[in-house]
Amino acid sequence: KEESAKQYVERVIHTVKERSPNEPEFYQAVEEIAYSLVPVFEKHPHYIKHAVLERMTEPDRMITFRVAWMDDEGVIHVNRGYRVQFNNAIGPYKGGLRFDPSVNASIIKFLGFEQIFKNSLTGQAIGAGKGGADFNPKGKSDMEIMRFTQSYMNELSKYIGPNVDVPAGDIGVGGREIDYMVGQYKRLRGAFEKGAFTGKGIDVGGSWMRQESTGYGTVYFAKRMLEDQDKSLEGQRVIVSGAGKVSIYAMEKAIELGAKVIACSDSSGYIFDEAGLDVEKIKQLKEVENKRISEYTKFNSNTTFDNEESIWTIPCDVALPCATQNELDENNARALIENGVSVIAEGANMPCTHDAILAFQESDVAFGPGKAANAGGVAVSALEMAQNSSRVSWSFEAIDQMLQDIMTDIYDKSKNAAQEYGQEGNLIAGANIAGFKKVADVMIAQGI
Ligand code: GLU
Repeated sequence: KEESAKQYVERVIHTVKERSPNEPEFYQAVEEIAYSLVPVFEKHPHYIKHAVLERMTEPDRMITFRVAWMDDEGVIHVNRGYRVQFNNAIGPYKGGLRFDPSVNASIIKFLGFEQIFKNSLTGQAIGAGKGGADFNPKGKSDMEIMRFTQSYMNELSKYIGPNVDVPAGDIGVGGREIDYMVGQYKRLRGAFEKGAFTGKGIDVGGSWMRQESTGYGTVYFAKRMLEDQDKSLEGQRVIVSGAGKVSIYAMEKAIELGAKVIACSDSSGYIFDEAGLDVEKIKQLKEVENKRISEYTKFNSNTTFDNEESIWTIPCDVALPCATQNELDENNARALIENGVSVIAEGANMPCTHDAILAFQESDVAFGPGKAANAGGVAVSALEMAQNSSRVSWSFEAIDQMLQDIMTDIYDKSKNAAQEYGQEGNLIAGANIAGFKKVADVMIAQGI
């Protein structure tokens, strides 16, 4: 008896689970994507014949390695480094590096898998990879960061290159860390190949707007979602979780476009001000002084700090989860829906749990998945690669325009694909389908 498209998808998910036990975040990402592709397999069974989903869910390779480094007291520590090279059908492996104690194979693989679809959606020639280490950069001195990063690069350098695999930042890895990596890679390679990394400092060969791009892109995406509800950002109450690069620049752009950012958070709790937060002060605290978000209340006595309730219990119109995976659960989703939220756009990767997403989908809240809504970061990384290989530098304004066009294109592609496959209004399905089809077609064209 012929296997149905749904049975095919279930069989592949089952294989993934069997082959990689104890990787819950990875299954979560695979399941979400695989089920949404059922209508694609129904309509085009040749994808099943070519075993595209089986091939796509097994990375080309997963590299793990020891990272030994010495702290300022002369004590030697050992961490584990990772790089997953997931898929290079449409371009060199591309994706960030995350330095965080929570990093493990499951998290790196979920991020690398998501990157396949995200990078494909940008319309640029970038494959998918991700990496990092279970290293906690918090509280480390500049020299400790440098030594750790150099040790990490001593091993990773063997596997990357401008046409092979191009890392960038993610949680815990910013311009400083990337520049240290560029330096170490240059020493090891004996060649100036700055195109092996993106997210570099401007004078090291970086692009304007790379650091703002993920946050700005998420707001451009949310703006398109609002426009479909005949609304603008003007006067909207926005909540942004997190206080890293993504969240800070999402707040900046939302305010610039007339919204009121009423709350944001870090790992210590959240701050709330009905009258709107001042992003310059948040930047000063988080980027310059390296302080907790609670310190903000010093500037403004009307702002409250809370570390008991969830940030998502506050009524708002637009919610931008920009902290980390699975930060927004079903209860948070129900609270947001009850309080009348109209748009959710994910600035982080997979910040909403599976049950939270189901709750949003049952309501009439518009939901923009991370692989579409936060693709602005990697999109500007691809623009950085383009500038590096042609040895030119484009202006901030030029890149901003390109980013807006890319985000609009991602939105339209996702919306149209959803419609074409009978999932009208479902941007998750649309983003998965549009991202998948391009890579799948190229994999078939390239043979096995
Ligand atoms: N870490 C970012 C992401 O999740 C950016 C990756 C990149 O620029 O390569 O997409």
